[in-house]
Amino acid sequence: MTDPSSDSPLRLRESPIELGPDLPITAYYAMEPWQPERIRALALYCSDGCWGEAFDEFCQRHLRIPRYDRWAVPGGPACVAASAEDPTLLRAARIQLDFLVQAHELERFVLITHFGCAWYGQRLQRPPGECLPTQSKDLQAAAATLRSWFPGLRVDAFLAMRRHERMSFHQVDVGHK
Ligand SMILES: [Zn+2]
Repeated sequence: MTDPSSDSPLRLRESPIELGPDLPITAYYAMEPWQPERIRALALYCSDGCWGEAFDEFCQRHLRIPRYDRWAVPGGPACVAASAEDPTLLRAARIQLDFLVQAHELERFVLITHFGCAWYGQRLQRPPGECLPTQSKDLQAAAATLRSWFPGLRVDAFLAMRRHERMSFHQVDVGHK
């Protein structure tokens, strides 16, 4: 007698992962192999998908933080700036960060605000260039908040600019730890 389940497509003998018996058929295999080591850095930036690839490229190629934790929310660092109008945003941010700092042993935060951010455009009702001073102030405030919550962690801040199709990154001085 042969086991009737032996030719099931879900019996993946080579797989290092124990797949559940009720798993649907594989839709896609990632080309990227699993790497368990954490980089202990988190980047907080806007969720705007038009910038996502450039943020990734900047963090991985320039800052050299592969596999960094990504925290993408509308407005990015605005959610931890002390000027955030809604205290529930700040509370939610604290809960999530407390968890990540502890569970992922974070040692570094990277804050990125970007030119033309719709979060600021809508809030301030100003064209992109006129939102930049507020965005810069929010970077300072966000860095101060993070340092007060997590003394000893490194905080770096950047402005992502765009001219036509060209995107560039500029460090903003938020003091050093
Ligand atoms: Zn944005």
